[in-house]
Amino acid sequence: MAVPFRRTSKTAKRKRRTHFKLQVPGMVGCPNCGEMKLAHRVCKACGTYKGKEVVNN
Ligand SMILES: [Zn+2]
Repeated sequence: MAVPFRRTSKTAKRKRRTHFKLQVPGMVGCPNCGEMKLAHRVCKACGTYKGKEVVNN
């Protein structure tokens, strides 16, 4: 079995791990109420989408 030639340095390890981050699905602030919501979806807090289209009351 192949074995690493050199120990990975602290810096190399840390630089690699800068790409490990929690994935937050596209959250945006609702332009109507300012509540955080999923992008391209109706706001759960105020029921609007794309301006003033009221989808649920
Ligand atoms: Zn809203």
